Formats: sequence, structure tokens, C-alpha cells
Amino acid sequence: MGLVVQKFGGSSVANTERIRNVAGIIADTYKAGDNVVVVLSAQGDTTDDLIEKAAELNPNPSKREMDMLLSTGEQISVALCAMTLEGMGLPVVSLTGWQAGVRTNSAYGDARIKRVIDERVLTELDKRNIVIVTGFQGINKYDDITTLGRGGSDTSAVALAAALHADLCQIYTDVDGVYTADPRSVTGAMKLEEITYDEMLELASLGAQVLHNRSVELAKQYGVNLEVISSFTKQPGTKVKEVVKTMEKLHVSGVAKDTKIARIALVGLSDRPGIAYKVFSLLAKKNINVDIILQSIGRDETKDISFTISKKDLDAARQIIEENREIIGFDHMTISDSVAKISVVGAGMVNNPGVAASMFEVLYNAGININMISTSEIKVSVLVDIADADRAVQVVHDRFFSEFGR
Ligand code: ADP
Ligand code: ASP
Ligand code: MG
Repeated sequence: MGLVVQKFGGSSVANTERIRNVAGIIADTYKAGDNVVVVLSAQGDTTDDLIEKAAELNPNPSKREMDMLLSTGEQISVALCAMTLEGMGLPVVSLTGWQAGVRTNSAYGDARIKRVIDERVLTELDKRNIVIVTGFQGINKYDDITTLGRGGSDTSAVALAAALHADLCQIYTDVDGVYTADPRSVTGAMKLEEITYDEMLELASLGAQVLHNRSVELAKQYGVNLEVISSFTKQPGTKVKEVVKTMEKLHVSGVAKDTKIARIALVGLSDRPGIAYKVFSLLAKKNINVDIILQSIGRDETKDISFTISKKDLDAARQIIEENREIIGFDHMTISDSVAKISVVGAGMVNNPGVAASMFEVLYNAGININMISTSEIKVSVLVDIADADRAVQVVHDRFFSEFGR
């Protein structure tokens, strides 16, 4: 007998019929003899709806109260699913994040799981109960509810799988695996049979929504046997693992798009030591992550620095920079939130220096202007106008996947 963790996303539990379908998948796994821990997301658009509801009453609610609110969506799902399984005559118990021992730090809205105290879940499994846990939430040292950031139920599932030493962690969603690009918007996107943790981590961090990036980080750290699979079809899914057999053939494993970013440019900074330090230490103090950074060559004793951040941090970044205008010393600041980052990811890229040039060439041929560039051993990212984003992903995807093939 093994232990399987099965996570179902929002669209998989969106309505009564979908919950019945999910209960069927869980029941089959249980009846085959395995112990089953289930992690559920909130139904459909519930989390978005709750965010809207909050904004109607207070445009700027505290993060603590937001977490109290948003955690309720998942609670509805687990109770409904548990009742469905009860109705099928199966032994089942639903648990909130805190009942399941999910301990996080105190960063409301973006909390990190610190540990999972697995006692309660193990007790329930010993009784041969199916255990259904709310995704996306935990509890901090003040006994307050925290949430893990949008899409965080994947991370709940992987953390539980790691803590319980599960044999398999299945992420059930509305596509049948990880594709070379978002199959909903890119023509010709191809399903990957398997992908390495490292490449999946890059794709997830660069905008491929299919897995929460921290779930991949945890899976790699604890060697969790991870699979992305559809709750709608019976197709085989994509395995996420340390080493994949086809790796050597690959130049590129996927193309990702991130539209949740903004660019800030500080123009007319003085060209002397310590300026970059001043700007970025202010942002770091506010926990604002900076991504691509571009600094111009100094001229007339001034220089410009532009950088990208997450859209959600834009107001905070603008405020801290304006408050420190005198200390930093710059002529003016320009802000654009109509930009998108397009990235190509692939472990084989390190031995193929032509990848970046090929990407730039197809963007040039499509008349798409590149605003910023950043590269690492396994990715090349460019910043383009948001209006060009979908076309950019398509032409870049066509370039790598129709010519080199897999
Ligand atoms: P869930 O609600 O199940 O967590 P998400 O909406 O968070 O599902 O993630 C699944 C979605 O991710 C898919 O519907 C798809 O549009 C999107 N997606 C983006 N990039 C990829 C990719 N490379 N492969 C598969 N799906 C992707
Ligand atoms: N319900 C949360 C969200 O919509 C968490 C998740 O679905 O993973 O972001
Ligand atoms: Mg998701």
C-alpha cells in the first residue's frame, strides 16, 4: 500500500458535477488500496470574487483580514468533497490548513511553509480515512490564518507530500500536462512527457501558471515524485523529476509569458558609486523583488537605471522611491505597467549559444521591439510591449518547436 497526494485546482472542483467527478478519482485511488491525502483549491473564481467583495468594503484592507477571508474558499471545497465521499460510503475527514499542521511564517498573503506537523494527518490515515486538506493556507506563530500567494494550493500539496513521504504527488488541473507553452493561447504547443525540476521551476517563475513556483522548489528540495495531470480526461500527464531521458536532445523546453510585471525607470541619476545600492536596498527593505535591471552608460555625469518588479508591488515601490527622492537624487521617474516578459527556457541552451540570437531574430522579423534582456544558463527573457506579448510568444514558440522539433 502506498500514499498518494492528489491536488485538484479551482476548475476541477468548480461545481457539483465537477466535485462528483473528483470524488470518483479519489474513490478509485482509495479502492485500489492506497492511502489518499487530497488537497483542494477554492471552487472556480471564488478567490477572485472574495477579493472583489473585500474591495467593495475597503480598498485597502489589512493583509491579515484578507487571509481570513480568502482562506474560506478552500474550506467550502473540502467540506463539499468530503460530504460527497461520505455519500459514497467512504471513510473521510476534511481538515483546514491548521488542523493538518501546516505552519507558515507570518507574511500574510504570501506566506512560506516552514514545517508540517503531520501527526493529525497520520492518525487519520492510520484509521484508513481519506484526508481532505484545504490548499493555499496555513497558520503562523500567532495562531493566525495565512495564505501562500495566488496558486499556492500546489505548494500545500507538495509540502504535505514531502512531509508524509508520499509515493506520488498528482496535481490535477484543466490541462493534461505541462506544455511547451500555454496550450490555451499558443498554437502548436506540445505536451511534454517529462520535465526537470529546474526547467519547470524556471517556467513557473517566468509565468507558466500551471504550477506554483514554490511547489516546484519544494518538490526539488525533497525529491517529491510530481505529476501534472488532467481531472477532465484520462490522458497520461507530465512527470516533473530530477533527470529526464530526452534531455540531451533539447535546446529549449518551453516558452512562458508573464504580464504581471511593471517597469520603473529612474532617469538622470548621478553617475557615482553607491547609487544602485541606495535604490535597491530601499526596495529590498520593503521586500520588493527586482527582476531585470538595466543601467545605461554614464554621460554628462548622469545615468539611468530601469528595472522590472511585480505589478502587485508597484504602488509600494513608487511610494518608497518618491519618499526618498532627495537621498537617491534623480531627474524623473517613468513607470509602465503595459509590459510583458517573454522567456525561453531550456537546460540544453547552455551548449547552444544560438538560442538568444534566434529569439531576437524572430522578434525582429515580427517587428516586435525588445525593451530589456536578461539571460541565465537556462533561460533568455525579453521585455516587450504588452500589446505584442501573445504574438511574441507565438513566433518564438514557432521558431523553436517547428524547426528543431523534439
Ligand atoms: P488550477 O486551477 O488547476 O490550479 P491553473 O489555472 O492555476 O489551474 O493552471 C492551469 C493553467 O495553466 C492552464 O489552464 C493553462 O492555461 C495555463 N498554462 C500556462 N502555461 C502552461 C504550460 N506551459 N503548460 C500547461 N498549462 C499552462
Ligand atoms: N484559491 C487560490 C487561488 O485562486 C489558491 C489556488 O487555487 O491554488 O489563487
Ligand atoms: Mg493553479
